Amino acid sequence: MTTQDQTFDLAVLGGGSGGIATARRAAQYGAKVVLIEPARLGGTCVNVGCVPKKLMWHAAQIAGTLAEAAGYGFELSAHGHDWSTLVERREAYIRRLNGIYRDGLDRDRVSLVEGYGRLLPDGRVACGDTVIAARHVLIATGGKPQRPTIPGAELGIDSDGFFALQAMPKRVAVVGAGYIAVELCGVLRALGAEVTLIVRGQRLLSSFDAMLGEALSAELVQQGVHIRYGCEVRRLERQDGSLSASLNDGAAIAIDTLIWATGRRANTEGLGLAEAGIKLDDAGHVVVDDWQDSSREGVHAVGDVTGRVPLTPVAIAAGRRLADRLFDGQSERKLDYANIASVVFSHPPIGTVGLNEDAARKQHGDAVKIYSTRFKALYYGLLEHKHETAMKLVCVGPEQKVVGVHVIGIGADEMIQGFAVAVRMGASKRDFDDTVAIHPTSAEELVTMR
Ligand code: FAD
Ligand code: NDP
Repeated sequence: MTTQDQTFDLAVLGGGSGGIATARRAAQYGAKVVLIEPARLGGTCVNVGCVPKKLMWHAAQIAGTLAEAAGYGFELSAHGHDWSTLVERREAYIRRLNGIYRDGLDRDRVSLVEGYGRLLPDGRVACGDTVIAARHVLIATGGKPQRPTIPGAELGIDSDGFFALQAMPKRVAVVGAGYIAVELCGVLRALGAEVTLIVRGQRLLSSFDAMLGEALSAELVQQGVHIRYGCEVRRLERQDGSLSASLNDGAAIAIDTLIWATGRRANTEGLGLAEAGIKLDDAGHVVVDDWQDSSREGVHAVGDVTGRVPLTPVAIAAGRRLADRLFDGQSERKLDYANIASVVFSHPPIGTVGLNEDAARKQHGDAVKIYSTRFKALYYGLLEHKHETAMKLVCVGPEQKVVGVHVIGIGADEMIQGFAVAVRMGASKRDFDDTVAIHPTSAEELVTMR
């Protein structure tokens, strides 16, 4: 083994959202930083997550707009959609982003070591033959898709496999009911695939306000997605060029591709963490306190590897605050995990922040007051097929503090960020009511609910 002859202030394992953000912020404060990454810079979000997903979502939105254009007087003739062109252009864009991330690290003088890092029992970091000593180590190794252990599970693909598809599969089964399941399902259906959504429970998006899952379910059915609730795949086999998925109710469906969207697990295997005295939870996440500190002094973790709100901006925010604290003397700086807004890029999209109705009732009982509305956005006024928008405000206490805002419908994705500021600042229903509406928009309904 060769030993890197310098001691770093910070060694970061993982060049994804959290790792890069922390490394650069620390380096901007003058810290000497090394970042270890075995794959393309940018991690899950840039390469096989948010970015390619959102581009596919835009393609699906365009398909919807083209279908609706006649209602606004356009005479269009459809010539189909070329999936491979979309994928080629998407990947070229992502390669540009990989380069931009590399330039950013260079600009901030973060050293890059390519390979898998692991922690040694003495607290140093190893990558191949290189051993690195650092005052602080950050574990930001993210996560990867997981699938059930049923016979033939390997014949299916996961979200990484979805982004590797060079042609659109015609008949697809998507297993799961979370973010990834409903997002991929919407893209595939809008671009013309026949889609079956296999849900083991009785609702979509079970951790969200029930209204959202119900409304999305109705929308997907209207779009022609077959949803099978209470359904599990027991076996997957290749049969005459197709896949056959045997289900728990005895039925079998023939498909071209099955996508497992059944959750993700932390990348903590083979990192030497337990041997180095780092506590992991039962699911393999690094256990951290409010300060992103692990059970070993000087070793920290941010992002999906901690299992706490696995979203890109959360990994970035936690990492930047950690760097502020460690390298800029901002001793009280840490991430507040409450009221983090999120968007599900389904069709239509969902925007949500704060407590859902069930959680609010559990915490606050009868002090909860709900305001809700359903309507068809003006955009659909000229169209035959109309899609509903549904909104809910969850308010608590005599002052009716707004503790939750939940929206499904056209524009919800861009609407929720501003309302997240209001919820974070502790706005009351009265504050919402006193805000003059913007007309004609869907968002105005959120400040005019009775
Ligand atoms: P990652 O971005 O996963 O980065 C971890 C990095 O560590 C990887 O580059 C990996 O190669 C590297 N690594 C692994 N092992 C080692 C090792 N031993 N040594 C060194 N490096 C290692 N979030 C949103 O906010 N919005 C979205 O729209 C969204 N869409 C998503 C869509 C999909 C399909 C998926 C899968 C996720 C999506 N997410 C989205 C979640 C988001 O991608 C993650 O929350 C985010 O990437 C987490 O960042 P991270 O830094 O913790 O991990
Ligand atoms: P989720 O936790 O959202 O959903 C996992 C789904 O898989 C659940 O519906 C769960 O069902 C189901 N499931 C788990 N195990 C099985 C099984 N054995 N058989 C059948 N179904 C199963 O995870 P995702 O993988 O969809 O996404 C991971 C994370 O990535 C998300 O939590 C989110 O934080 C992030 N993400 C964010 C996005 C965004 O911001 N737009 C987009 C994509 C991902 P059940 O409900 O019954 O438990």
